[in-house]
Amino acid sequence: MDKWHTNIWPPFTQITSSKPPQQITSAKGALLFRENGDPIIDAISSWWVTLHGHSNPYIAEAIYNQAKQLEQVIFADFTHLQAEKLAQRLSKATGLQKLFFSDNGSTAIEVALKLAFQWWYNKGEPRQQIIAFEGAYHGDTFGAMSVGERNLFNEPFEKMLFPVRRIPWPATWWDDQEVEKREQETITKLESLLETPTVALILEPLIQGAGGMTMVRPEFLEKIQKIIHQSKALLIADEVMVGFGRTGSLFASKRGKLSPDLIALSKGLTGGCLPMGVTMASQKIFNNFLDDDPRKTFWHGHSFTANPLGCAAANASLDLLEKNPNAFTNFELRHLPHLKKLSKHPKIKKIRLTGTIAAFDLQTNAQDGYLNAAGKAIKDYALKHNVFIRPLGNVIYLLPPLCITDTQLEHCYKIITRSIESA
Ligand SMILES: *Cc1c(COP(=O)(O)O)cnc(C)c1O
Repeated sequence: MDKWHTNIWPPFTQITSSKPPQQITSAKGALLFRENGDPIIDAISSWWVTLHGHSNPYIAEAIYNQAKQLEQVIFADFTHLQAEKLAQRLSKATGLQKLFFSDNGSTAIEVALKLAFQWWYNKGEPRQQIIAFEGAYHGDTFGAMSVGERNLFNEPFEKMLFPVRRIPWPATWWDDQEVEKREQETITKLESLLETPTVALILEPLIQGAGGMTMVRPEFLEKIQKIIHQSKALLIADEVMVGFGRTGSLFASKRGKLSPDLIALSKGLTGGCLPMGVTMASQKIFNNFLDDDPRKTFWHGHSFTANPLGCAAANASLDLLEKNPNAFTNFELRHLPHLKKLSKHPKIKKIRLTGTIAAFDLQTNAQDGYLNAAGKAIKDYALKHNVFIRPLGNVIYLLPPLCITDTQLEHCYKIITRSIESA
């Protein structure tokens, strides 16, 4: 029987109460294969990373070729072409001139936060106040936990986390009648918090991921942008999940007409093949670090900074996105007919859709939220029918790789619908 290896400590898992894991021996496109060859549709892109599909031959080839040529080199004193090419392309795509490398989403956020704090420090106007949204998730390291929602997951560390001011996240859904009122409440609160000098506002543009795949309107982000701009506080966009086409636009900031000072990217950056994070920063941020005074240097770096294999994978993934932008710009239309059908279902509420990501809540008798058990039953049912989803409490969502076929997508919706009926 499948079980966790005695020497493995798995993430986000309570071994005593969780089901044993299944061995996956290979993967191709949207499919994961078990030892016996049975396929499972990976409907959440293996924790939101797999972008074009598993074992993509073009990216695999790029990694292989790079590995034969230059697998790793210290990125202080030395540089290499893959890193420079990636920096140039992401700079052009985001409109932010500088790229700082790290290893994952959490470290990309740590870098963004440290840059924001130190930018004010270097200016000689040190500030402390950071504003974040209720329900936010920015990663699991201490700085990232601090700006994230305080909850069950970080409770043991609460006293060690730095203080953050919060504003409500005015999430919306189909047929929502009160969104403007909620948006206005948030804006009023933000304006009052900004009376205190503020380092930065950090947000997940358009979609909060781990917080429950909750979505806000691009119009709302536009308003936020204006207010932040007037206040001189910096804007940090956490595009770790939503970057690289997930929202139907190459970057969610674009669709929300945001021009952030800092953008954190990871997950889909390498097509989801290798771990890597980057923080994009504007020239304005960079300029305040240029000084002979050593205290103004950004003293931060990681062993695997700009790992050439990661850079090669990221460049190959960008090639694929550039070659076929329709794969993400038109994805909404592929979800739409299925969601319309589901919208008539009495057990489903708060349907929402942005780009490749579709979500809705299950109507249950228990409290909404991560500990609501309804999603678990749906997950088990779906897996029995070869569809892998990982509901967030009673929130069911699909976040498939771009390569998923219409038939596979239809199968996911069919199984989810049936599972809801049997639940
Ligand atoms: C996953 C995620 C992170 C953290 O990224 P890791 O690579 O898991 O450290 C940060 N922000 C958002 C929005 C994420 O979805």
